[in-house]
Amino acid sequence: MSTYSTEKLHKALQHFFGYDQFRLNQLPIIESVLAGRDTLAIMPTGAGKSICFQLPAMLLPGITIVVSPLIALMKDQVDALTANGIYAAFLNSSQSPAEQQQVIQHAEQGNIKLLYIAPERIPANSDGFFTFLEKLNPSIFAIDEAHCISQWGHDFRPEYLKLASLKKRFPKVPVVALTASADKVTQNDILQRLELAEPRVFISSFNRPNIHYYIQPKKNVFGQILEYIKKHREDSGIIYALSRASTEDIAGRLHEAVIKAAYYHAGMDAAERSRVQDAFLRDEYRVIVATIAFGMGIDKSNVRFVIHHDVSKNIEGYYQETGRAGRDGLKSDAILFYSPGDIIKLKKFAMIDNNPQQSAISMKKLELMQEYCEGDGCRRQFLMEYFGEPFPAYCGSCDYCLSSLEEKDATLDAQKLLSAVSRTGERYGAGYIIDFLRGSASEKINPAHKELKTYGIGKELKKEEWQWMVQQLLRNKFLSITNDQYATLKLNEKSWQILKGESQIKLVMKKEKAQIGEHDEPEFEQGLLRELKNLRADIADREHVPAYAIVADNTLIELATYLPQKFDELKHITGFGDYKIGKYGAGFLEVIRRHANEQNLESKMHFKKPKKERKESREKPAANSTQRTTFTMFSEGMDVEEIARQRNLSPGTIEGHLAAFVSTGELDVYRLVSKDKLAEILKVVKTTGQGFAAKPIKDILGDDYSYGEIKAALEYNRRTGNQ
Ligand code: ADP
Ligand code: ZN
Repeated sequence: MSTYSTEKLHKALQHFFGYDQFRLNQLPIIESVLAGRDTLAIMPTGAGKSICFQLPAMLLPGITIVVSPLIALMKDQVDALTANGIYAAFLNSSQSPAEQQQVIQHAEQGNIKLLYIAPERIPANSDGFFTFLEKLNPSIFAIDEAHCISQWGHDFRPEYLKLASLKKRFPKVPVVALTASADKVTQNDILQRLELAEPRVFISSFNRPNIHYYIQPKKNVFGQILEYIKKHREDSGIIYALSRASTEDIAGRLHEAVIKAAYYHAGMDAAERSRVQDAFLRDEYRVIVATIAFGMGIDKSNVRFVIHHDVSKNIEGYYQETGRAGRDGLKSDAILFYSPGDIIKLKKFAMIDNNPQQSAISMKKLELMQEYCEGDGCRRQFLMEYFGEPFPAYCGSCDYCLSSLEEKDATLDAQKLLSAVSRTGERYGAGYIIDFLRGSASEKINPAHKELKTYGIGKELKKEEWQWMVQQLLRNKFLSITNDQYATLKLNEKSWQILKGESQIKLVMKKEKAQIGEHDEPEFEQGLLRELKNLRADIADREHVPAYAIVADNTLIELATYLPQKFDELKHITGFGDYKIGKYGAGFLEVIRRHANEQNLESKMHFKKPKKERKESREKPAANSTQRTTFTMFSEGMDVEEIARQRNLSPGTIEGHLAAFVSTGELDVYRLVSKDKLAEILKVVKTTGQGFAAKPIKDILGDDYSYGEIKAALEYNRRTGNQ
């Protein structure tokens, strides 16, 4: 029904917002809204829910009404839209009656594309309000934070119940409800209370691949925090502490260390709180030390770190707070300082007088928090499974994965091990080979073997390290093992390639503890980045909007990396839509040209090949119609064989079609591949660095794995960004 091709939607995304690809389910959600369907979109905070109604708003005639409970956020969004040259306004209790009247007038004259309304603006007798809306002839209703309509949700707001009759009054206008609240009961409640008609529901993954999770023992916390902040001198972040007093204390000590820091808690008056918040948004403060009162509705995209000075009361709170980092998609750190003593303290507060039921829930949540902190495994896996999303045991970007495991070139060690197997005649199991390698004096070692040159060449590795190596080689089929009681190690064709030096191998190995926050930064011109930030700050001041509303940090980093010097080149920089190029392009280009001249540098735009994902999303839009047909049949309950028969295609082709919907997030990967197999495939992807082609992976894994399973895993890998 929708007349909007994927290509046209990509163009509109680029034109209005300057982004070159859709995230998660943005594209199918937008298509659904444009096709006039009621839609429920569940996406984690920071994933980009707003685009899901803002883009359709720009493509449809007339006005889009957005209901949102967060007054602070409303203003930010309107500022951000205005910065993109889009007519937007809001109505809420922070305005004088005269201001509100002016907005209403503009809306009635058809001068507004997006009108944000706070639910408290809707009178108890909503009739008059609905009559006002009727006059505006809206094309979409967007209900943000839709979980507020549910008593099961964590933030029930009775005013939201007034929206229940919306659909009765406007049966033809599509409603898109958006929330970051995942649980099933709340979802159904939203659908029912809003009385959505045959709604389409899109649920996106809650994983935030760009946030790295660390848990540190709580010793000399302040010293550790200070060191971290000093090391990341260009970055801003939030430090959460439990008590008001400690936020003031920590901020004071940071201040003494000449770090631009301020504190924030609910004991301060409203004016002071909003001053601190604004100054943080404008990068005048680099660090905010706050109680959990801070952050609700804050959309600062370049928060690079969130530090928990004390442990949180529950995983929900912790995850929400860490989620304030890295909204721009760049790498960011979430660091928690843990001491078991903190849990004991919190347990006292978890008991609520005369409410045994609520107390029990709080205690349970606290225990799970403790399990998370003390657990011996991938942090991300724990978090994802907590929210009901299965996840493999290795993410590669939490302190456990980074410090206990690493990927390294293991060719030399593998050669030692394989030659030990060869020299001893391929007649022994792993235990013997390892003892032999480590030069064990044991009598069990054949005296003749003690004369061999390979005897003892593996002394520098521990026994456990060799055991791990054997496991890895077996798993990756670089070594074979007999299937009898002796479990004898045997060489195969791939072993010989390594022995002859024809192929190299990378393996995931166990390793020592890593430093927090070590990750590769893109190479950019430091001095230029500072100049660009200054220019952005000047523009922001002049326009009275936060700096990131002009352009985001990653845009500046791209500018400082690729040094575009012509208007044409700016088009290829993330975040520069046509409007922003026209408005700000000349200013930024001038700074870059001057810097390039002084330093004798040239444009490096030719290095900025379109990103792989980007190219693919253009050439192979996720929703091409033959894939879509397969997906629809699959959604209706047909299995792969059956679809293949009906469509006269091979099952492999059908599996390939379905895999495409894993990368858009519309299809749960576990419908195509089991959890264990997914973990195995991802390991191979990790160890071989093969993230795109299925064939080499299939070669390693063999017949137990189908192409369909491998393709699904690759799409999943691409989507979660674990390459
Ligand atoms: P939320 O889901 O929390 O409402 P927002 O809609 O505020 O998230 O979006 C978070 C950030 O991501 C914003 O800065 C927004 O401009 C940016 N963003 C949204 N969609 C995209 C995209 N497709 N490409 C790049 N950035 C995007
Ligand atoms: Zn991990």
